[in-house]
Amino acid sequence: MEKFDVIIIGAGAAGLFCAAQAGQARLNVLVLDSGKKAGRKILMSGGGCCNFTNMYTEPTAYLSANHHFCKSALARYTQWDFIDLVQRYGIPYHEKTLGQLFCNDSAQQIIDLLLKECEIGKVTIRLRSEVTHVEKKEQGFVVTTEGKQVSTHSLVVASGGLSMPGLGASPLGYRIAEQFGLNILPTRAALVPFTLHKPLLEQLQTLSGVAVPAVVTAKDGTVFRENILFTHRGLSGPAILQISSYWQPGEYVSINLLPDTDLEGFLDQERESHPNQGLKNTLAKLLPKRLVECLQSLGQLPALSLKQLNPAQKKDLITTLQCWHVLPNGTEGYRTAEVTLGGVDTNELSSKTMETHKVKGLYFIGEVVDVTGWLGGYNFQWAWSSAWACAQALAAREQIVLFSRKAS
Ligand SMILES: Cc1cc2nc3c(=O)[nH]c(=O)nc-3n(C[C@H](O)[C@H](O)[C@H](O)COP(=O)(O)OP(=O)(O)OC[C@H]3O[C@@H](n4cnc5c(N)ncnc54)[C@H](O)[C@@H]3O)c2cc1C
Repeated sequence: MEKFDVIIIGAGAAGLFCAAQAGQARLNVLVLDSGKKAGRKILMSGGGCCNFTNMYTEPTAYLSANHHFCKSALARYTQWDFIDLVQRYGIPYHEKTLGQLFCNDSAQQIIDLLLKECEIGKVTIRLRSEVTHVEKKEQGFVVTTEGKQVSTHSLVVASGGLSMPGLGASPLGYRIAEQFGLNILPTRAALVPFTLHKPLLEQLQTLSGVAVPAVVTAKDGTVFRENILFTHRGLSGPAILQISSYWQPGEYVSINLLPDTDLEGFLDQERESHPNQGLKNTLAKLLPKRLVECLQSLGQLPALSLKQLNPAQKKDLITTLQCWHVLPNGTEGYRTAEVTLGGVDTNELSSKTMETHKVKGLYFIGEVVDVTGWLGGYNFQWAWSSAWACAQALAAREQIVLFSRKAS
């Protein structure tokens, strides 16, 4: 049976980066992936330009049952380290917004970078190799792919979460965790659009494609200020994707469609200068015309002139526009979600090495772990940082193994 120092399951962001680092530390590394190509999610990411990190990465941008877990890895391999690597490869990039760094040209450049780093580390990458089974035997872990077996004493699970099965997502990582008696926290789709109940969806149908800057608040008080997008299925856009990670079924979200406007002051001022102006035309100065028309057809915008608007109607209007309570029907689920919340319980892992406490030589990195970032490059940064921490540990472990082999 072929034997490797390290076997990594998953040629995604975390798996490739870990493989490259471990390979460059002179370990004999094998990466296995079920797909035809490495880094399939990277290629699709950031609209094809890969939002590879965020300049403002900090632990508060991550959801996890243990908020402290991600700190060590993020501090040891930071966004600046990855930016430095991107610069060394001469990949042109730009900040889009809120510290989000994207390639100017193509996400393929990040994949090429990772593959080149793997080549430098003499990593073996086997694609179209779906891992079906893992066993721990005396000689180490035996990994089975479509009938073939390989073995190692260091197994890294970087098989990602459940989002986007079309891009190779599978529950293998959770299955391996379960097999070795590790706790798994419930998973759910995150960074995902909301679907709406039929009556509201029908009412908002004409707005499909309209985007507006908004402030969206979850029940727990978490707030995001970015665009929302009306779609033919419900609501999307960065503010909605962000809040979806904090949303539980049955909860309302509150949307302020005019977060930067003193609406009462604006209506009073307009009333003074144009008392006969209709409400519709007044609001069209602040909001997209289609949205104003929709509000009117829903009866949320009385067909009145400003001077006819009484204080109670004004109050209702302000509530509608600045404190719109929406009850999502659900989310679009893993089919379109960017990430998976939950996963391998961080209490099972060392935050320094990503190794499990229960099973020596078994590591989990990247999205399969219960660490989920906000939208904006944070998830790739977690992939790089957790992979780097793991690779350092693998290199250190191998030194010990080599040393003990020599000694015996
Ligand atoms: C459309 C989309 C856009 C995104 N854009 C961004 C972005 O711009 N910025 C950002 O930070 N994050 C983004 N994300 C999130 C980011 O892609 C993930 O957080 C990140 O890829 C996780 O890396 P990973 O290596 O842990 O897992 P993955 O990248 O999912 O890699 C896991 C790998 O394991 C393989 N695998 C699974 N099961 C098996 C098996 N049984 N046998 C062998 N191989 C297996 C899969 O084929 C896959 O290649 C995006 C996600 C999606 C879906």
